[in-house]
Amino acid sequence: MTLDDAQNAPHTRMHSVSEETRRIVDQVLDYSRRRMLADDTPLDHAATAADLKRIAGTTINEDGIGASRTLAVFEHVLAPACITTDHPQFLSFIPSAPSKAAVAFDLVVSASALYGGSWLEGAGVVHAENEVLAWLAAEFGLPLGAGGVFVQGGTIGNLSALVAAREHARVRLAERDAPDGRWIVVCSAEAHSSIASAARVMDIDLALVPVGDDGVLRAPGVRTALEEHGDRVIAVVATTGSTNFGVVDDVAGIAELKDEHDFWLHIDGAYGLTAMLSPLTRGLYAGVERADSLIVDPHKWMFAPYDACALIYRDPETGRRAHTQHAEYLDTLTEADDWSPSDYAVQLTRRPRGLPLWFSLATYGAGVYREAIGHSITLAREIADEIDRRPGLTLVRDPQLSVVVFERDGWERADYNRWSDRLLADQQAFVVPSSHRGRPNARFAIISPLTTFEQLTAILDTMA
Ligand SMILES: *Cc1c(COP(=O)(O)O)cnc(C)c1O
Repeated sequence: MTLDDAQNAPHTRMHSVSEETRRIVDQVLDYSRRRMLADDTPLDHAATAADLKRIAGTTINEDGIGASRTLAVFEHVLAPACITTDHPQFLSFIPSAPSKAAVAFDLVVSASALYGGSWLEGAGVVHAENEVLAWLAAEFGLPLGAGGVFVQGGTIGNLSALVAAREHARVRLAERDAPDGRWIVVCSAEAHSSIASAARVMDIDLALVPVGDDGVLRAPGVRTALEEHGDRVIAVVATTGSTNFGVVDDVAGIAELKDEHDFWLHIDGAYGLTAMLSPLTRGLYAGVERADSLIVDPHKWMFAPYDACALIYRDPETGRRAHTQHAEYLDTLTEADDWSPSDYAVQLTRRPRGLPLWFSLATYGAGVYREAIGHSITLAREIADEIDRRPGLTLVRDPQLSVVVFERDGWERADYNRWSDRLLADQQAFVVPSSHRGRPNARFAIISPLTTFEQLTAILDTMA
């Protein structure tokens, strides 16, 4: 068999370096390059399942349809049926705005078949991820030695932290009688749905502390819950930037309760902890330095591509005790003292998903991040002032971070829906209606440094 024959044999066709594989790689890189450097990618919108089935046709058969046709289906049928989440006028949910360096480097992470689960297999990339985690921990005021792992998202991050908190409670209470009743997590009534999801997965209960009109969780409510539930409490969760409003809980007040009560403080900063990096808002975050665990999602406001959540423990050993998996074939790993990221969360195999952030941070430096984050905060304040000035519009709450929630006087849910549909149909903006205490409203979540005041006022104009 000649080399050429070997390269074209069916069982090696997908893996060998051949004319065909070269062409495939070129085509994919060419597409990626065009998408990364385009500044006019439209917002696009979803299509129906029936339409996609009809237009995309059958792509999977016994012989394959080839890379050119498959890529064409992606570019012309599938991609346009996905909303452009990094569009400056994508203002719903929490948008994404990955930096160019971060997106480009994400290709490298895939191209290099990097394994980020263990030191043995990925020492170099684990080192780089850990430098980012250590830098974040220092920004958040955690002591030297704090560390953790990048997981898929805030939901897995919160779950992993709460599992570690429960393990900590078990160890702490081991010498005493186990408390009667079920384990409890104390959090705000406005905490993110992922906390309730974690409680369901863990089969534990939540003690929801009511909040006032400003939505801020404060110490007195937390103290009442701690006194009521005693040793059954495995953690108190404070949210630093609620998803719906960007409200930051009174972490300083809640953390002070640690002087009276022994509890695990977890900070859910998936969206908002990022703003601790900006001098404009840093003051809101006093007390974070006393956290036992925290999360922040770089795929939200730290300009990394999907999907990445930084989970950091004050004492990483607490995470390791809860999460290390044991199996005969893993003995080489678990018997070593090396730092293996898989040991710190609910996961085993993992891509080093913190690397795009590492590359971008190292490339541009932290100062540029502070500027870009500050832009969203300043813009949110400016557009809130504008909403305040405009007759017919009412701010629901003053923005603390980069989420602005407002009402159009006299509008019902159906009016907001029609308006939102129209904005998307015109490809002007993606702004889905939200609601608060049963009242519908409109909501801007500002993440992209490319979003401008003029774009936002043009959207307000459509509500007249
Ligand atoms: C987005 C978010 C989460 C969940 O994070 P995912 O990455 O979507 O899983 C949790 N908490 C808060 C406050 C969030 O904004």
